[in-house]
Amino acid sequence: MSIESLIQKVSSYDNSEYSKLLHKAAEFSKKAHSKQTRASGEAYFTHPRAVAQILADMKLDALSIIVAFLHDTVEDTDVTLEKISQEFSPEVSELVNGITKINFIEEKSDAVIQAENLRKLIIAISKDVRILIVKLADRLHNMRTLHHIKSEDKRKRISTETLEIFAPLAERIGLQNIKNELQDLSFQTLHQDIHQSVCARVDLLKSGENHKLPTKIIDILEQLFKTHGIEARITSREKTPYSIWSKMKRKKINFEQLSDIMAFRIIVKDILDCYKVLGIIHNHYLTIPRSFKDYISTPKQNGYQSIHTLIMGPEQEKIEIQIRTEKIHKTAEWGVTAHWVYAQERESSGNYHGKQVPNNTYYSWIKELLSILEHSSDPTELLNNAKLEVYHDQVFCFTPKGRVIGLPVGSCAVDFAYAVHSDVGNACVGAKINRKIAPLRTKLQNGDQVEIVTDKTHLPLASWEKFAVTAKAQSSIKKAIRNKKRQEYINLGRIIISHALSKRQINYSDNILSPAAKFFHKQNIEDLLQSIGEGNISPPSAMKCILGNIKTEAPELDKILSKLEATGVKIQNAKHSKNMPIKGIDEDIPLQFARCCYPIPGDPIIGIHQPGKGVVVHISDCETLQNYSASPEKWVDLSWKKNNELQIYSSTVNVIMLNKPGSLATLSIEVSKHDANISNFKITSRAADFFEIAVDLEVKGLTHLASIMASLHTKQCIHSVHRYVKQ
Ligand code: MN
Repeated sequence: MSIESLIQKVSSYDNSEYSKLLHKAAEFSKKAHSKQTRASGEAYFTHPRAVAQILADMKLDALSIIVAFLHDTVEDTDVTLEKISQEFSPEVSELVNGITKINFIEEKSDAVIQAENLRKLIIAISKDVRILIVKLADRLHNMRTLHHIKSEDKRKRISTETLEIFAPLAERIGLQNIKNELQDLSFQTLHQDIHQSVCARVDLLKSGENHKLPTKIIDILEQLFKTHGIEARITSREKTPYSIWSKMKRKKINFEQLSDIMAFRIIVKDILDCYKVLGIIHNHYLTIPRSFKDYISTPKQNGYQSIHTLIMGPEQEKIEIQIRTEKIHKTAEWGVTAHWVYAQERESSGNYHGKQVPNNTYYSWIKELLSILEHSSDPTELLNNAKLEVYHDQVFCFTPKGRVIGLPVGSCAVDFAYAVHSDVGNACVGAKINRKIAPLRTKLQNGDQVEIVTDKTHLPLASWEKFAVTAKAQSSIKKAIRNKKRQEYINLGRIIISHALSKRQINYSDNILSPAAKFFHKQNIEDLLQSIGEGNISPPSAMKCILGNIKTEAPELDKILSKLEATGVKIQNAKHSKNMPIKGIDEDIPLQFARCCYPIPGDPIIGIHQPGKGVVVHISDCETLQNYSASPEKWVDLSWKKNNELQIYSSTVNVIMLNKPGSLATLSIEVSKHDANISNFKITSRAADFFEIAVDLEVKGLTHLASIMASLHTKQCIHSVHRYVKQ
């Protein structure tokens, strides 16, 4: 597009004073950059012009377009901010200044510098979100032309920064298209080979018979809506290679299992039609349980609106459907930001798709980031926190002294303790969440203040592994348990040997064992004692070696040895003391419950052998099991032992209930009537009439859980109760 038509386009939707300065800004930029070229060899001005074009396509105001033209002048030429202020306005100069300040030093990747940059970025955005929008358009054009940069290191560094900082920021302000393109371009640079193979697989899917499927489905759906008298535009929506790849990673599934690559968007004229279309679809096709989401009545935090549902489509294919109005569609693709900018300028209170919302509801996350900035002293810590904050799947909690700890969603108090310090984690015995004593397994919520109670003599428990989610906690717990076991075996080994020696009137000392340690190729005496304790070296042969070295006559040796032999057998048994309520496998194989389905006694169960982990127990219809369908050798038939109900198990149920006073009380009374305990609960969605909560229950088994659920069902204020299944 020529400069002329670009300016014309902007003037067509914004006729403010600034639209008269567009020409001047373009000329000013062209002149200022006249001596520079881009890495591609083109005139430098092509870059600010392209940035202005991206913003004009988003219908950003004339002021933003002017800033786009000028955004690199202060940084790269001898133009000063005073000059811009004189020629244009102090407002323009202020925005250009904001962008100049956050022009990241891409030559350096030092974490401290990166954190400093992020600090500048956040402070700049908090002044005017348009600074971020122009910066995103700038980054987008730089990413589109990244292949001109010769240094691979530099390309990768810029891509990582884009993926970690700019793409999440774009998502947070609702710029879906920019987010997708930034992610995909970064992905292409960082993992060229994976990107190529994902593209090749997508192409393969589209070839042959499958090629016609989307068109066929669109035809069938169009016909269906026509007979109901609804006008709808249906498009098939392709997922980007990056989103396919990250889903494969996140769900640990392969390409074939990625069922929802086919996705359709149905665009209708008004909101009423959205719900009509939804009704028709749900009436005609099988829906996949719990896949339905209504972001029209409850928009996402970034303002996103749409109805999502997953169905078995007309061709018996799983298809994903999004329903929205034309207006919402435009906003979702490009315009939330523009809308917000206008709304902020023109109205005292925001008006959002007919809904009155206070202005400060939007972008409250910028404020959150700023508060982290104020409280963190170490810039690297800030980077870690801030980087995470822009992702949705993080919770932020505080130590009693106000230090911010960022954790993945689903983390519990144990994760928090380990995040503070491994020593705190290892010694933790209890937690106070918001000054109240809470179980260590309690899932943390944003803003929780967590105090960890420690006891230095305490050691981590194996059961923590079941609810700790962070890698740091998991590995520390494993390590501590390994150490604890090792210490026990060492003590046992020492007892066996000193007992045997005392029968020979020999005093035990570690030194006596040195030659034996060498003989058995052990690094040190503790290793030798551990092997003896574990039964890997039989006590008689250890004794033979030890006594041989102290050169003592051993008339009673045989007697002692035979006694020790007996002890040895006992030791072997002691190793297999796992007291799990499950039968069907050797007692010495470690068992753990799967975190996707949380089996409880009474559930039909299946075990999956996992090298290094032992056997993981799933409910026999758990969807995760599909991942192992190709390896039947890993499957183990399991069943519950009787009298297993002495233990307490954790189970989660989703409850949908009326949004009225007393509903929650009814729930908790019913649960306690059954002598069960609620260990945690969380409101997962809330509307005017209903709300949905996830309740973590401590139950004795399936019968117990079923009776609780049944009695909840009888309550009028409770709409539905489902056992939680991880999707
Ligand atoms: Mn630039």
